[in-house]
Amino acid sequence: MVALVTQGSQARYELACPICGERLHRAVKPFGAGAAFLAEHREQVLLVAFDVLVHHLLVMHGDGEGRAVGNS
Ligand SMILES: [Zn+2]
Repeated sequence: MVALVTQGSQARYELACPICGERLHRAVKPFGAGAAFLAEHREQVLLVAFDVLVHHLLVMHGDGEGRAVGNS
């Protein structure tokens, strides 16, 4: 669901919302983090990426009270 992509010296994560299909992508922080950083901090990067997805789900598809629609 989450792809880690390194382009030049900058790694980024890409994911697609399972509900609306919107593609979410962010540069991995710190700025300039590359393949070596990814190899060392892969799990943390994935956690951050999922955090972005959860935030998107709650903001774009939630019921306004912090619950994901269809999960109540
Ligand atoms: Zn969505």
